[in-house]
Amino acid sequence: MKCALCEREAIKNGYCDLHGSAYENVVKTYELWKTALNISWKEYLSEIVKNPLTGEWAKKVAEHLIKKEANESGA
Ligand SMILES: [Zn+2]
Repeated sequence: MKCALCEREAIKNGYCDLHGSAYENVVKTYELWKTALNISWKEYLSEIVKNPLTGEWAKKVAEHLIKKEANESGA
């Protein structure tokens, strides 16, 4: 199985090691944001994408998660 975002082999959560650790950081950081800002997962993801300080890896993961959310909610 390939990574959802690149041609590398997926190791966990459907991502390769690099996108997988970016994904873990995104999830971990959300825990902090949620506590501090009372922000929803979707809002948080769009903040990541908009934020010029976000690394490229995390941004790609966030964009992918937004698309996934949209598909799953049938929107
Ligand atoms: Zn990847």
